[in-house]
Amino acid sequence: MGLSDLPLSGDVLQSAEEALRSQESAAQGCRRCKLCEARSTVVFGSGNPTADLVVIGEGPGADEDQQGKPFVGRAGQLLTRMLESVQLSRDEVYITNTVKCRPPGNRNPEADELAACASFLAAQLGVIQPKVILALGSVATQALLRTKEAIGRLRGRLHPYGSAVLVPTFHPAFLLRNPGQEYKRMAWEDLKLAKREYDRLRSR
Ligand code: URA
Repeated sequence: MGLSDLPLSGDVLQSAEEALRSQESAAQGCRRCKLCEARSTVVFGSGNPTADLVVIGEGPGADEDQQGKPFVGRAGQLLTRMLESVQLSRDEVYITNTVKCRPPGNRNPEADELAACASFLAAQLGVIQPKVILALGSVATQALLRTKEAIGRLRGRLHPYGSAVLVPTFHPAFLLRNPGQEYKRMAWEDLKLAKREYDRLRSR
């Protein structure tokens, strides 16, 4: 087979940015679950298409549903500060959610909705190939790790996730609802753990 026979065109040479863009266009208009009925827009994800760290939240809220970007409301502002506390910027990482459409009234996504959306997240992770995944809150962590164990027991340590490591921590919306220092201190420990792994795996 000569060089000219190799499939060096089309999908094979798509950059990560292009691949995510095509995935996002494919997701727009999705009707795989009932969340499509009340959403304004599909909130696919934002940030660095080749990020070594991907942040995964639960699902878009009202602000995200309006603006089409993840974590742009109050919880998002706290997430930005949490990342910055370990010298990570939003531009450096990629941010997305387990479900891409807003659950009405900000209820938790249901099992059938998580299942319907799982292949979008898997496709995003397949393109980005992060080294570290920061999972925010029990919904994202339990869905990704396929467990029902409480976030309080899952956080504070690393979990293997394919070729990446997953670091669970509290959701920023939970931290906003629980203003005491205890949960914030634990979240800070988790962020430092995620950053330590990020630096270590990037230097290999
Ligand atoms: N909460 C989430 O889990 N995701 C968002 O995008 C916003 C708030």
